Amino acid sequence: MKSLRLLPSPSAFRQCTTYARGFCPPCPILVTSRRCCSSSSVTTASPSESVDDVVTPWAVEAKGPKGIDYDRVLSQFKSERIDAEMLMRLEKVIAQRHQELGRGGAPPPLHPLIRRGMVFSHRDLNVVLDSLEKKQTVYLYTGRGPSAGTMHVGHMVPFLLTKYLQDVLGCPLVIQLTDDEKFLFRDIPLGPKMDAIVQSNLKDIIAFGFDPKRTFIFRNTAYMGEMYSTVLELQRCITTNAAKNTFGFVDTDCIGKVAFPATQAAPSFVSSFRNVLPIKSHNMRCLIPCAIDQDPFFVLTRNVSDRLKRPKPALLHTKFLPALKGATHKMSSSAESNGVVLLTDDLATIQRKLRKAFSGGGGTMEDLKNNGADLDTDVAYQFVRTFSADDALVASTGEGYRAGSLTSVDVKELAAKVLWDEILSHWQVRRAAITDETVTEFTSIRDILRASPSW
Ligand code: ATP
Ligand code: MG
Repeated sequence: MKSLRLLPSPSAFRQCTTYARGFCPPCPILVTSRRCCSSSSVTTASPSESVDDVVTPWAVEAKGPKGIDYDRVLSQFKSERIDAEMLMRLEKVIAQRHQELGRGGAPPPLHPLIRRGMVFSHRDLNVVLDSLEKKQTVYLYTGRGPSAGTMHVGHMVPFLLTKYLQDVLGCPLVIQLTDDEKFLFRDIPLGPKMDAIVQSNLKDIIAFGFDPKRTFIFRNTAYMGEMYSTVLELQRCITTNAAKNTFGFVDTDCIGKVAFPATQAAPSFVSSFRNVLPIKSHNMRCLIPCAIDQDPFFVLTRNVSDRLKRPKPALLHTKFLPALKGATHKMSSSAESNGVVLLTDDLATIQRKLRKAFSGGGGTMEDLKNNGADLDTDVAYQFVRTFSADDALVASTGEGYRAGSLTSVDVKELAAKVLWDEILSHWQVRRAAITDETVTEFTSIRDILRASPSW
């Protein structure tokens, strides 16, 4: 299993020693047990000396301030770049679906996240587009690990993309909440604390505006009975070696961790949804929009799909929204100290937080005038680029800032305004209207295929 080549070679992996539940610099991988290797020698390299970017489901850390090298990710993960040809094809299929759904007016344009390269990589998107062209039903699957009661704006990236795809393609959608993962990997106890996090995350997710008739959201500990037979089929096909090689599990890890990948894999197959996507055959294709850190789960899934005689799930990968402290870290629920903007923050809070964000605008006004800003490292500019629907605004901000005619303060103010005016103020109004009854509607086991147009 070669999906995590961004990790150093196996020999480097063996060098690391005792790091209790933290980031192990020499590995470099998130250490999920008291010992991350069997060696007794202690290596004391600092994270800055790490040999490479780290992209795993549990840790994302870039070696330099420009953030993750996505070209390298593409070549190491061996996924496909979304090129101009693929964009044109996607646009064409969206236009075809627009007609089939009987919607008037011009077909919708590609989402800004797609147009601007935030959605940068895929696996088998062409196969999904083939199915859609043949009017076959495709379902969407995405998810969230409930590790904190309030989600952050980094989570918006895959959810905004998923909402767009559901809208323009009219697809049914399943959303997995991996409470079991957070119990096993983050020690969050199952019980009232987890229940409260899950309930709050459910409302946060629903507030993205997913179609209640075509969307089913489930938490693993509650839904497991329905998908257990599919989980078991996957568990029988995925070897311990494959799980260890993919995720860096070690012998002292509990067996729950080693088994978990089958649970995240299972919703890739329609057999997990006998009462939600009730079709007799196994051949309904699944498209998974997610950030690239989740890819290893689905590489494992794809590797066993043929043996299970199921279609391989397709993927659309997004880049990461950086933490406020800079692009060396992605924004993360589990590392709030790196700087997060929460979905519940008001405008004043967002402005205050963004004022402290890492700036690519150079040290002094003089530096900025002479050299312009480094847009790749500037967190506020990344926010504008990610969240504004206005192409002209994004272009003029980039040009002005690069030329030194806009200051870092200007761009931070603009980023706060864009995030608030275009996204969060609307999201918060929807969130305030969501009741426990709305949650029951989205989480009840029911046929969501019936509401999806057959084509
Ligand atoms: P934790 O730190 O507990 O792992 P998280 O912040 O990484 O939480 P998850 O629930 O693990 O969030 O991730 C849910 C989805 O959101 C995944 O597809 C994940 O890749 C994506 N995601 C998380 N953080 C970001 C980010 N900063 N930018 C873009 N996508 C993100
Ligand atoms: Mg995560």
